[in-house]
Amino acid sequence: MSEKSIPDPKEVQKEFEDFVKQRFGNAVQVFSHAMNTQAKASKEDHSEPSSPELNFSMKPKDVKEYLDDYVIGQDQAKKALSIAVCDHYNHVIETLQNPTQSIEYAKQNVLILGPTGVGKTYLVRKIADLIGVPFVKADATRFSETGYVGANVDDLIRDLVTQAGGDTQKAEYGIVYLDEVDKLASDGPSTTRDVTGRGVQFGLLRLMEDAEIDLRSGNDMQSQIQAMLDFQKGDGGKKRIVRTANILFVVSGAFSGLEEIIQKRLHQKDIGFRRTSSTQGLSQEELFAEASTEDLIAFGFEPEFVGRLPIRVHCHHLKVEHLLKILKEARGSITKQYQRAFQAYGIEMDFTEASLEEIARLAHSQKTGARALMTVCEKVLRDFKYELPSSLIRSFSVTESLVKDPASGLYALLSSQKTEVDPEVREEIEQVFTEYFSQYGITISFRDEAIAALSLEAKNRSMGMAELGHELLESYEHGMHLIQKTSGPSHFTLDEAFVHNPKEYLEELIKKAFQKPQGITQEKIH
Ligand code: ADP
Repeated sequence: MSEKSIPDPKEVQKEFEDFVKQRFGNAVQVFSHAMNTQAKASKEDHSEPSSPELNFSMKPKDVKEYLDDYVIGQDQAKKALSIAVCDHYNHVIETLQNPTQSIEYAKQNVLILGPTGVGKTYLVRKIADLIGVPFVKADATRFSETGYVGANVDDLIRDLVTQAGGDTQKAEYGIVYLDEVDKLASDGPSTTRDVTGRGVQFGLLRLMEDAEIDLRSGNDMQSQIQAMLDFQKGDGGKKRIVRTANILFVVSGAFSGLEEIIQKRLHQKDIGFRRTSSTQGLSQEELFAEASTEDLIAFGFEPEFVGRLPIRVHCHHLKVEHLLKILKEARGSITKQYQRAFQAYGIEMDFTEASLEEIARLAHSQKTGARALMTVCEKVLRDFKYELPSSLIRSFSVTESLVKDPASGLYALLSSQKTEVDPEVREEIEQVFTEYFSQYGITISFRDEAIAALSLEAKNRSMGMAELGHELLESYEHGMHLIQKTSGPSHFTLDEAFVHNPKEYLEELIKKAFQKPQGITQEKIH
């Protein structure tokens, strides 16, 4: 086939306009689609946020290196996604720079196969962050064919506009991530779920191709309100359209059962080639790496739907060593999140190597990928987060035994706080209370618990020690005089009860003064 040179669309338009003018004069006017869009854009400019430039000049290796900082393992997925994303955004840049040219391009929509919690969403979200494009994630099970039950697939695009802060142009090159697409597969023509699933597949297909979504016709509250506002402004007829041609779609699912379909096909091929069981004993991951269009159709997808997902990627299970690396090395890891959370209360904490190994082992046994890390840490550290901010503990280490038995770990830690009072604070306490009692000729000594309790009380109530002393001793004056009269100069030892119940403590002192007892709380000096 010989290639014809395509004239510049502006020239075609000019020629056409000249022809119409010659033929009809000013009675007929021509508006091209491009002109219309531009006119509409300039008309709407005042009401919509201006679209920031999309800057993208990365190479696949740059993207992969960035992802390596955050996502542990998943090397093949990172590579394939990096390539797909670079191809896609290079194309988007090209179309943004040449809006009137139609450039041949098969969109690099991605299908990710893999179990839950292994970083599928995280990969795509980090990519969206890197490029600075809006990102939306939803579960395919949220949608129904009609939109009357559940949501309509078009809502994904509306959500994207919301994520883009209402900027429709920015939304037009965002990323839509749809999990659990495997639930849309049909097992046969008869069940209702199949009808729905197939309908959603076609709905998505339309979006993945090149659809124009009217933002006003959504069923959600936001669209309805927007429609009402438009109507009140007299803009009832104005459309807010988002084209989906440049939106990148990533869909994913666990696809359990697909490995058997792949295995069967590979086995038949083996027989065809008279090979002896070369594909027997492949792991699920190895089988997923072989997934073909044919397998996905056999799984229950419409051929057109599969056809719109040319990039296939699989993510592997996370082993204990991956989980350990996620804890230790991944940027923004949860150990760092915990450290920050405790730091907010002035508490420094760290994790011993053995404790991290134990957390990784416990998380691995839950079979929910890296999500389990958070569950395990939360279970181990929840009471620490509750108790420690109101304690005197200023630092602690998460050890293996603490992970295995958090309750005992916390108890031991809280018991240790009694000896942990800052020497300066201790000195201040001793000074304030010694001074007070000496007015009545009474000398005092302190139990460690009293020092700890006073220090903690002052900290929790954000009070200076003198202020706290004043409050605690407010009602002591009369009692002190009594003690002075009855038993002369005495020596008292202050304990925790003095802090927690000063009145009762005083009564006890007076009682003992009258009884002239010996013992730990009152002793005659001479
Ligand atoms: P899914 O595969 O189900 O989409 P996610 O990507 O949502 O799982 O993972 C849940 C969380 O677990 C992520 O937000 C991230 O913090 C952590 N995570 C999962 N996989 C990895 C990984 N391979 N490397 C680092 N963190 C991970």
